[in-house]
Amino acid sequence: MERIYIGMGSNLAAPDQQLRRAITALAQLPGTTLAGVSAFYQSDSLLPGQPRFTNAVAALDSNMAPLDLLDALQTIEKDQGRERHERWGPRTLDLDILLFGDQLIDEPRLKVPHYQMHVRAFVLYPLAELAPTTLQLPDGHRLSDLLTTCPFVGLERLPQE
Ligand code: ATP
Ligand code: MG
Ligand code: MG
Repeated sequence: MERIYIGMGSNLAAPDQQLRRAITALAQLPGTTLAGVSAFYQSDSLLPGQPRFTNAVAALDSNMAPLDLLDALQTIEKDQGRERHERWGPRTLDLDILLFGDQLIDEPRLKVPHYQMHVRAFVLYPLAELAPTTLQLPDGHRLSDLLTTCPFVGLERLPQE
């Protein structure tokens, strides 16, 4: 079993519903338990001219192999209407593997820790709801240090239902 953190994002077709549907799908993955979900956060797109994003992080305990999990996440994205055109285009659903236990993964299709998680407030703040701030990433970064260098700017934490 590994503790895995998944970053979720959507900015098309009712983003909050997309995330809720994705959470249900994550909980049904084989050999996997949904261990927690952060609040939902809204922020402006990194690229101008796109709708605002809703983001959240989910914690899984799973015995899936990393590339099998990536395949499963891409299937969920596709089931929820993800179309890949230009990189960083608007999307119904993005599911990224942020952390996979203590593993450093450097495969052509999968790099873990996620290469941009260190500088993305919409990843770090929801992650900090689920993981201890003493958490040390396998690349040596400490979550508390990343939060210090990545201010809570432009994020709106949505009230939970
Ligand atoms: P970004 O990676 O900047 O968040 P994105 O999530 O929109 O952008 P995608 O189009 O979802 O990018 O994914 C592009 C490719 O990234 C995928 O085909 C996948 O193989 C690869 N990839 C590498 N590392 C990861 C990871 N940790 N989680 C998910 N996909 C990854
Ligand atoms: Mg992404
Ligand atoms: Mg992605």
